[in-house]
Amino acid sequence: MAVLIDGKEVSRKVRNEVKDRALLLKRQRDIIPGLAVVLVGEDPASQIYVRGKKRACDEVGFLSREFLLPSATSEEDLLSLIKDLNEDRSIHGILVQLPLPEHLNGESILEAIDPRKDVDGFHPYNVGKLFSGTSYHRSCTPLGIIELLDRYRISIEGKEAVIVGRSNIVGKPLALMLLERHATVTICHTRTRNLAETTRRADILVAAAGRREMIRGDMIKEGAAVIDVGINRSETGKLFGDVLFTEAEPKASFITPVPGGVGPMTIAMLLFNTLNAASRSL
Ligand code: NDP
Repeated sequence: MAVLIDGKEVSRKVRNEVKDRALLLKRQRDIIPGLAVVLVGEDPASQIYVRGKKRACDEVGFLSREFLLPSATSEEDLLSLIKDLNEDRSIHGILVQLPLPEHLNGESILEAIDPRKDVDGFHPYNVGKLFSGTSYHRSCTPLGIIELLDRYRISIEGKEAVIVGRSNIVGKPLALMLLERHATVTICHTRTRNLAETTRRADILVAAAGRREMIRGDMIKEGAAVIDVGINRSETGKLFGDVLFTEAEPKASFITPVPGGVGPMTIAMLLFNTLNAASRSL
C-alpha cells in the first residue's frame, strides 16, 4: 500500500507559511506583496484559474489585480500594459495566463516581463538561471513537485528519476531541478522507444504527458514514488491523471492522487515566488 501524497495539505501548509512571512514583511518593511494577473480572451478554463489565483492571493493577504482583456487585444496594447506593470512599485509579480490568442506572440510577451517580476519562471532569464543552477523564480509546477518530495522525505539524491513529458513548463524544468538534487534523470516523450522499459527503471516516476491513465501498473517499479501531473477532463467533467491509480497504487511506495496531488501545489508555489519577489524589492 502506497502512502498517499496529500497535495492539498502540503499546499495549505505552504500557503500558511507564506501568509506568516507576508505579515512579517508588512510589519517590518511596510510591503504588501502584489500580483497582477493578465488574461486575454474568454477561455473558460483560464477564467477559472485566474479566479483561483485571486482567491489564493486574498487568503494570504496579498494585493491582487486582475486585467481581463478582450481576445482582440493588440500586441502593442498588451506590451504597454506589461510595461506599466513592470514600473508599478505595488506589483511584485506579473502573470500572463497562457495560452494566449493566436495573433499574439507569446515569446515576446513573456520576454517583456521584468524577470524580477516573472513569478511563473518562464522568462528566458529565469530559465537560464535554472539551467546554470542559480536560484531565482522557478516554474511553479516543477517547484511544487520538489516541495512534495521534500515534505514527504522522499530522497532524490542518487535515485533514478524518469519524467514522461518534455514541455517547457513541466518536464524540462523538473529535469533540471531533479538533476540539481543529484538524481539520474531520464526524460521520455512520444518518440521514446520502449517507454515501459524506461519507466520501470524509475525510483521516482513523474507522469506529465496529458494522456489519461497511460501509465499502467506494469510500467512501474515496485516501491517507486509516483507523481502524477496530468489533468485530463472526461466528457462529464471528471478529472483523471496520467496514471491508472488502481494499478499503480499497490506497486508504489508513494503516490499523488488526481485531483488533490500536484495541482494544489502550483498556486502555492506561485504565492511563494511572489512573496520572494516582494521580499527582494527595494
Ligand atoms: P504538453 O502537451 O506541453 O506536453 C506533453 C508532453 O508529453 C510532450 O513532451 C509529449 O511528447 C509527451 N507525451 C504525450 N503523449 C505521450 C506518450 N503517449 N508517450 C510519451 N510521451 C508522451 O503538456 P504539459 O507539460 O503542459 O502538461 C502535461 C499534463 O500536465 C497535462 O495533463 C496538463 O494539464 C498537466 N498540467 C498540470 C499542472 C498542474 O498544476 N497540476 C500544470 C501544468 C500542466 P512530445 O514532446 O514528443 O510531443
